[in-house]
Amino acid sequence: MTKVTLKRKIAPRVANGHPWVFANEVQGTEGAVGAGDIVRVESHDGKYIGTGYINPQSQIVVRILSRDPKEVIDDNFFYKRIARAWEYRQHIGYTENCRLIFGEADFLPALIIDKFNDYFVLQTLALGMDRWKGAIVEALRRIFNPKGIYERNDVPVRELEGLQQVKGPIGPAFDPQIIIRENGLKFHVDLEHGQKTGYFLDQQDNRRAISAIVKDADVLEAFCYTGTFGVHAAHYGAKNVLGLDISETAVAQARRNAELNGLQDRCAFEAMNAFDVLKAWSKENRSYDVVMLDPPAFTKSRENIQKAITGYKEINLRGMKLVRPGGFLVTSSCTNLVQPNLFLEIIALAAKDARRQLRQVTFRAQSSDHPIIWGMENTEYLKFLMVQVL
Ligand code: SAH
Repeated sequence: MTKVTLKRKIAPRVANGHPWVFANEVQGTEGAVGAGDIVRVESHDGKYIGTGYINPQSQIVVRILSRDPKEVIDDNFFYKRIARAWEYRQHIGYTENCRLIFGEADFLPALIIDKFNDYFVLQTLALGMDRWKGAIVEALRRIFNPKGIYERNDVPVRELEGLQQVKGPIGPAFDPQIIIRENGLKFHVDLEHGQKTGYFLDQQDNRRAISAIVKDADVLEAFCYTGTFGVHAAHYGAKNVLGLDISETAVAQARRNAELNGLQDRCAFEAMNAFDVLKAWSKENRSYDVVMLDPPAFTKSRENIQKAITGYKEINLRGMKLVRPGGFLVTSSCTNLVQPNLFLEIIALAAKDARRQLRQVTFRAQSSDHPIIWGMENTEYLKFLMVQVL
């Protein structure tokens, strides 16, 4: 097997559990290197660190798959890893829908699999993982006997790996418009055209968290996508819900979701630019009992972090101003470069400018089916804050 030796300074980080090796961290390579091949990673003094896949074209040249020198990376390896990830999800209480594989956090770097009951959505985001797609699909068939597996590899990040963007069913074609159940409600999910894998499972636990604060409330949900938080709010007793999203398709799906649950009388969804609307309405002194914000990631690169900070501050300031005294702000951020402490600092600055005091109800992360591995910063990405705005 080809051997990759790390520079002296780098080895501890990788040896301590981080799965990525960057191109400039390699001291030398011994043996032939084919893109996607399995290689042995060693420290500068020849100690085994791990076994991973290599892609000389990628900035992340090796991603570690195993820390056991005897473990063979073959089809059965992927079967065992996926079976173990499913056991873990069941152990912590997931039954129908969950992120089954959350990449690095399941020791399968660059692999994402969402389970929507009998349907599965797959992303292989690095060349070395893409190679094993056949084995991964076979493992899903053996463990779950799925009604359908859909590939959503229509993501630009694949191009950094020399891969093309592709999407479509794997195996026999099936209807990618499905209905899932969550917290006693039903939701339409479009596996083909929906954002990311079609549905944001990472907020599934947090959607339950709003139950106590929305009773009899007037609720505004900005960046609502398919209206999942709004429909939950109506289900938990909100008087009125208004959801806003810039995407017409998302808004149409949100309306269908309200109808699917018989909540259309209390839910309205409109296609609007939330930035403009929050600004205009806060100037008009409109007010709500509960304002919920869940914008898309504002940046994926460190250079633009200031832009993200400004964006979060702006919408949270406007959002807070729209909350009646004693009402609640429910605010999320999915930018992993904005770590939890920084997010709280931004909210504190917004509160200062809005001249409002905050009383925290809860501060949490993504749902537990997206595990956070300590020491792997990018596995902790979602912030979900609920505060009373005094
Ligand atoms: N809360 C949702 C996920 C929201 S994702 C859920 O749990 O399912 C973020 C949404 O913000 C996307 O649907 C995107 O279309 C929308 N969006 C992006 N920019 C926007 C803007 N300027 N105004 C309104 N919506 C916007």
